[in-house]
Amino acid sequence: MTVDPSLPKAILQCQACLSQHDPSQPIWRCPCGGLLDVEMEPRFPWPAMQVRPPGLWRYREALPVYGQPVSLGEPQTPLLEVTDAPFQLLLKVDYLFPSGSFKDRGATVLLTKVKELGLSAVLEDSSGNAGAAIAAYAARAGISATIYVPASAPPAKIAPIQLYGANLVRVPGSRSDTSQVAWQEAQGTYYASHVWNPFFVEGTKTIAFEIWDQLGQQVPDWVIAPVGHGTLLLGLYRGFRHLLAAGLIQRLPRIVGVQASACSPLVQAFQRNLGQLPELHPEETQADGIAISHPVRWQQILRAVTETAGTMVAVTEVEIRQALLYWAGRGLLMEPTSAVALAALVDLWEAGTVRPSDRIVVPITGAGAKTAGRYLDTTTGP
Ligand SMILES: *Cc1c(COP(=O)(O)O)cnc(C)c1O
Ligand SMILES: [Zn+2]
Repeated sequence: MTVDPSLPKAILQCQACLSQHDPSQPIWRCPCGGLLDVEMEPRFPWPAMQVRPPGLWRYREALPVYGQPVSLGEPQTPLLEVTDAPFQLLLKVDYLFPSGSFKDRGATVLLTKVKELGLSAVLEDSSGNAGAAIAAYAARAGISATIYVPASAPPAKIAPIQLYGANLVRVPGSRSDTSQVAWQEAQGTYYASHVWNPFFVEGTKTIAFEIWDQLGQQVPDWVIAPVGHGTLLLGLYRGFRHLLAAGLIQRLPRIVGVQASACSPLVQAFQRNLGQLPELHPEETQADGIAISHPVRWQQILRAVTETAGTMVAVTEVEIRQALLYWAGRGLLMEPTSAVALAALVDLWEAGTVRPSDRIVVPITGAGAKTAGRYLDTTTGP
């Protein structure tokens, strides 16, 4: 295809052996087995960008894809000011995406890439929002999607994937068993994995561009994000790095990654400076979207947190529940996986880590309707 010369050139680079690969080929990992990242020089031609409709496709020159966007009408999500917090608190309401979570940022860019590659089928594994996002955008693109899910995943989470028309494959066993089976199957096809495929994080990085845009081209002091595989955290880091490299901001925000204590490999590796992931015996958590015991990109995640002078925080099940109920009572119904970040903010405030003059952005990652039933109190009411 002919590439618009205003769009950035990109190359895929392996994190392990540093070899480079042509992104016009359908490759999702290095032949050596390593993870790939997109290397590119993003551009921000602001006069052209600012007259486009708000939303993530406004930043085209900073995205390494060239085809017509596979879009479901992604909004520029609100940056909602919380006026009664003891610091400046802004909630980035990313649950307003078409399939109900920030994962649509990754899916719209990844499926645009898949379409550009001329592929007719993709494969993904996920118990929830990533599967729904890939299924929705594949449906929009007319591309067939096969989504591997744990057989134990709750119907409310997998029903949307089926309704979007994806082939659901239920895998007995744990979440990692599902990833294992999908990973095997993906060897001969294109793996639209939000974890492995570098074009997914190319999409999630747009959250940083929007925050910067909505703050009048400024950077917040802190961004606090739930972390499982790290596609949100790495997207934030990458997006702000791009803005820094382009000279549009002078410093990075401090990035805080939050996990549930019940499954907190990254928090443990960070706090105890382990240099590897601990062997875990994860317990059940309400925050099922981030219950990942072996995040593949763990080194990148810890590097991003360290480099921005951020930190990693674990929160308890009681704290998660309290945060979810508190914010629902203020009109924001989110998933428990999203509430972990707001629970951590309470701890950071009480510890004196965040100060009254700080400006803090918390992405609200997923909508609460699918999980609200777990919190229904049947002891009161008519
Ligand atoms: C996927 C997800 C996260 C965390 O994303 P990772 O990329 O796994 O770190 C947070 N919140 C919700 C609602 C999610 O679906
Ligand atoms: Zn390699």
